[in-house]
Amino acid sequence: MANPKHKISRARRDKRRSHHKLTPPNLSVCPQCHEMKLPHVTCLNCGTYKGKAIIAVEEG
Ligand SMILES: [Zn+2]
Repeated sequence: MANPKHKISRARRDKRRSHHKLTPPNLSVCPQCHEMKLPHVTCLNCGTYKGKAIIAVEEG
């Protein structure tokens, strides 16, 4: 069976992981309300996607 020959030390494991998730998630600007939002995702501020209202947002 394929098996690792040696245990990877805590230091080596943690050095490898030091490069994980170094960049923040991409953000795009909502064309409706110009808030930052995740790309390809309905805007959570105004509830629209590609100019259409997808979810109702209660105001006030
Ligand atoms: Zn929006």
